[in-house]
Amino acid sequence: MYLMWTSLKSYKRENNMSFSSFIGNEAAKSQIESFISKDKIPHAIILEGARGLGKRTLAKLISKACVCEKTWEKPCGKCIHCKKVDREVHPDVIYPEKSGALHTYNIETIREMREDAYIIANEAQNKVYVLTEVDNMGIPAQNALLKILEEPPANVIFILTCISSMNLLQTIRSRMQIISLVPVHFEEAKLYIRKKYKELPDAKIDEAVKISYGNIGLAIEMLTSEGLKETIRIANDIASVIVSPRPFELLKATSGLISDRKKFKEVLNFIIIFLREALILSYTGKSNGCSYNVINELANNLSGKKIIDIIEEINKTVIYIDQNVNLTLLSSNLCINLQSIVF
Ligand SMILES: [Zn+2]
Repeated sequence: MYLMWTSLKSYKRENNMSFSSFIGNEAAKSQIESFISKDKIPHAIILEGARGLGKRTLAKLISKACVCEKTWEKPCGKCIHCKKVDREVHPDVIYPEKSGALHTYNIETIREMREDAYIIANEAQNKVYVLTEVDNMGIPAQNALLKILEEPPANVIFILTCISSMNLLQTIRSRMQIISLVPVHFEEAKLYIRKKYKELPDAKIDEAVKISYGNIGLAIEMLTSEGLKETIRIANDIASVIVSPRPFELLKATSGLISDRKKFKEVLNFIIIFLREALILSYTGKSNGCSYNVINELANNLSGKKIIDIIEEINKTVIYIDQNVNLTLLSSNLCINLQSIVF
């Protein structure tokens, strides 16, 4: 009995170490670790969350666990399979190529992937396909993907990453295990970045963590890119007038974006981060420790349902931005639609 307990304890400790490089998101990690320890990894997983939350990193960790040669303590991080996944050269962990103006997966790529998926793995026990940022994937490609998910080949795991799984067909979502990533606690984020960027002053790191609301990837980007700070300031301005009863204020706040497609999209993605935080605050009464007023303002003035509707509306606009729709038109439509949700 004692031996059994010891071995379980040791397994748990080692297992935690496997994912310890991934900061925060304890719920998501324990869900994944539970699949791995029971050797019941779902054949299709969606990792959803804002840019910078580490979806690609986590997809890599899961891929490693799927091909790791150890039967215990997966991923070990040391075997030949784990090392090859780290270098993105494992023949059984495949990143299909994106193409076209939307830089996404087209139907041909998905069909090729489908044919390939039925071929037995080269070196490992399992084969993994990682499809990143699938928010813009067209309906024909999604339907082709659905066909694979309806009759999934044995020992094949599909990992998709996206900002919101709501951008995918419901029929796809219902066949996948959705795992949502959230920003981490500020102190955890600060500690992680301080360790990684020893040369940066603490005050700068603290500020970046605050502005990014605990989003480590964004905080790091912010510390190395000046433009991002400005983007967040605009997002903050727009988010703070969403609840304004004067539609002109919202139009004025978005007017600066109609000449820059990339910036427009980045700003909207930040507004989604603010809204998600407001939603958490509105439902749980607890914030992520963020001192920004805009989140409180949104949570105090909007119901959870309204916040979800606004997130969906903004997500739709982000997709239209990628489809080359006229930005002036998009901006005006967004303002009108947000006003009709709020009032
Ligand atoms: Zn390994």
